[in-house]
Amino acid sequence: MNVVLASSEVFPFSKTGGLADVAGALPKALVQNGLRVSVFSPLYKSIDKTNLTLAIGVDIDFNGQIVHTRIYKTTKEACDFYFVENEEYFNRDHLYGIGAHDYEDNALRFGFFSKATLDSLKALGIKPDVLHSNDWQSALVNVYLKLFYKEEFPQTKTVFTIHNLGYQGVFDKYYMNNLGLLWDIFTIDGLEYYDKVNFLKGGIVFADAVTTVSKTYAQEIQTQEYGFGLDGLLRKFSYKLSGIINGIDVDVWDPKTDKFIDYNFNDPKHKIKNKNALQKLLNLPIKEVPVFGIVSRLAAQKGMDIFSKSIKELLKSNIDAQFIILGNGEKDIEDTLTEVANSYKNKVSLNLKFDEPLAHKIYASSDFFVMPSKYEPCGLGQMIAYRYGTLPIVRATGGLKDTVKNYSNRVKNPTGFVFEKYDPLELTKALKKAIDLFNKKNELLKIAQYAMGLDYSWENQAKEYIKLYKKIYG
Ligand code: ADP
Repeated sequence: MNVVLASSEVFPFSKTGGLADVAGALPKALVQNGLRVSVFSPLYKSIDKTNLTLAIGVDIDFNGQIVHTRIYKTTKEACDFYFVENEEYFNRDHLYGIGAHDYEDNALRFGFFSKATLDSLKALGIKPDVLHSNDWQSALVNVYLKLFYKEEFPQTKTVFTIHNLGYQGVFDKYYMNNLGLLWDIFTIDGLEYYDKVNFLKGGIVFADAVTTVSKTYAQEIQTQEYGFGLDGLLRKFSYKLSGIINGIDVDVWDPKTDKFIDYNFNDPKHKIKNKNALQKLLNLPIKEVPVFGIVSRLAAQKGMDIFSKSIKELLKSNIDAQFIILGNGEKDIEDTLTEVANSYKNKVSLNLKFDEPLAHKIYASSDFFVMPSKYEPCGLGQMIAYRYGTLPIVRATGGLKDTVKNYSNRVKNPTGFVFEKYDPLELTKALKKAIDLFNKKNELLKIAQYAMGLDYSWENQAKEYIKLYKKIYG
């Protein structure tokens, strides 16, 4: 079976979040199961071109012009990665925009990427059995395929995965012309959304199968509360919607071999050395106190607004604990956390940036990993935390609900702390319970050891995707 994955980010070449992890790791697992896989992604400025070779030049008819486009290639673990070059669109400092401000021409940038993917496949002679696109940035692949490429790819079926329904790619309707889309699909049953064009909606409508990244999120997005205005559409298409939980790349996230951490380990007893090294690096007092880690976009979606309130409360009560936070994002959250960090320099280390090595160190050094999301399609942080014997503290939503078992007398084999209501008080309670567990060292170590043994690799999840591919390909 020949599968092509289109994704606007792919690890280790480009990354802003979980989508990159998935696009980097799923292909590898599919290849190990005997599939032929190619991945298409834009050639961003940050991608090192020295290890890429020129695969082909393609003329792309886009936005009233013929755009001569170079497609670069590299092969990694038997999977082909293709990168679409476009100086004007992708040679920029960021992937989608600066901070919370998206680039104004994102409709054109990712419309172009989607069209270029199909033209490149045609030029390269690749005939996918399944074309798997992801999120709004590559959603138009499905639309263009059905509108304009049926002759070239008569057998190709499409899977569209929603990694986050909160981002839909909604633009002014005049882009329909720029993108070369036909007005007869600008309807309630097509791409129209409150008189605008909605890329993600197109991805859903035109796909043969739609997936999202956990079973619970597949249910949640069909409700008004989590549906971001598309719950009706998703209910209508529920027959082709399913949830497949993500895995993590267990080679990238491995405490035994991780090059970014100070001491490799296989037993949570030995985490302490990493903890002390990180405390030193970040100018925190070097001592054995509970350390709470956060590696996250600083967004309300991630529960960072309730976390800001909760951490203030806890610190006021003079607890002996440390918080190590890595991330950037929404300005009001960054500002509140900066204020907290300035007031409690001995207890809070705030790192407002994207930093892959530091992320690894935090996963490896913390006792607990805080993810109080308002909604969470899947979440990778909790699974990565497990690998390093770090117990997640999460809200019961989406993939977090599916992967974390609450610590309580009634639950066998708990793996972390789970609270229900989106409320800072609930989070504070969970953080306090974690501190209590920290004080029962042996019990904490036992649970951490159990968590380290959990299998969230892609091996099983890739099989779920293969089952789905086979089902739609017939
Ligand atoms: P998202 O909604 O952002 O995709 P996920 O939990 O699915 O959330 O995935 C987040 C991924 O991005 C994880 O691999 C996490 O370690 C990484 N990440 C998030 N913020 C940062 C950061 N500031 N620096 C380094 N890695 C980060």
